[in-house]
Amino acid sequence: MEQDLCPKHANCPLFRGEMLASKKAQEIYMRLYCEAGEKGRNRCKRFILSEAGEAVPHNLMPNDTRSLD
Ligand code: SF4
Repeated sequence: MEQDLCPKHANCPLFRGEMLASKKAQEIYMRLYCEAGEKGRNRCKRFILSEAGEAVPHNLMPNDTRSLD
């Protein structure tokens, strides 16, 4: 459903397929985060940082092990 899609998807390098060589892996991330509604995107580190008005490192994964601090 449209409202399940992350509002940041158009400019998101993960969603645009620029971060992962494997299409399969990208699909899994998209299912878990980008297309999983509010619950999905609210656990995405890219989304969280962006919502906080912070610059998002290009290579930051939704489940990156780096701290957001
Ligand atoms: S959920 Fe995260 S990875 Fe997916 S489009 Fe939104 S910001 Fe990008």
